[in-house]
Amino acid sequence: GAPPALLELEEVHVFYGRVHALSGLTLHVREGEIVALLGANGAGKSTTLRAISGLVRPASGQVRLDGRPISGLPADAIVSRGVAHVPEGRRVFATLTVEENLRLGAFLRRRDQAGVARSLEWVYSLFPRLAERRRQLAGTLSGGEQQMLAIGRALMAGPRILLLDEPSLGLAPLLVRSIFATLRAIHRQGVAILLVEQNARAALRLAGRAYVLETGRLFAAGESGALAADPRIREAYLGA
Ligand code: ATP
Repeated sequence: GAPPALLELEEVHVFYGRVHALSGLTLHVREGEIVALLGANGAGKSTTLRAISGLVRPASGQVRLDGRPISGLPADAIVSRGVAHVPEGRRVFATLTVEENLRLGAFLRRRDQAGVARSLEWVYSLFPRLAERRRQLAGTLSGGEQQMLAIGRALMAGPRILLLDEPSLGLAPLLVRSIFATLRAIHRQGVAILLVEQNARAALRLAGRAYVLETGRLFAAGESGALAADPRIREAYLGA
């Protein structure tokens, strides 16, 4: 049969105390895909990414990578399997330099210094502004530069799939376009992307497919073009 998807969630439930944040979510991302995860505030998008990267533990259901379960593994083991998460809010280490932040992203690759050096050069070529500021303290970077650093640090883990939570949040439109262009470049190098975005229009332009969540459940799923043309989606998410 067909090979298993790179990443699969099957009937995943997540609770925060009594809050049922994900109610049986099923979705997948194939090798080399960009998939968008859309939905209103509180729909469960960030929780989905946390359930994949091991930051929250599903009460039931499965998360699989290459068909093998990863739910329940510690977060660093999930990073080692090739899943890198850029959480909302760019938490960089303010008192470390840009390059120190990037090297921390590769802390699980200590025995692959040649690979780490290649990744560092790749990140600097994707984000020349980080290269220019490699000795600057991360806390003194602009918001956009901190977002670049957060993405760069995730790439230093050598991921097969990047989980991105609201990379455009609070950035000026020109910078959003530049970040999205860089996501395309990252994708061209074979890294799959699962993108959480409030900016549904931009996300549907970038992604081949998308899932739309409503209160922890799937509301719609499909090819980006079809979703962008769907009247329900246009009205609720595209302001049309
Ligand atoms: P947003 O775009 O606002 O970040 P989201 O779609 O990412 O929304 P989640 O952050 O995944 O949504 O939240 C899903 C639900 O779980 C919400 O009702 C939220 O209030 C709740 N929730 C999230 N984190 C926690 C937590 N640590 N404790 C309790 N409830 C939480």
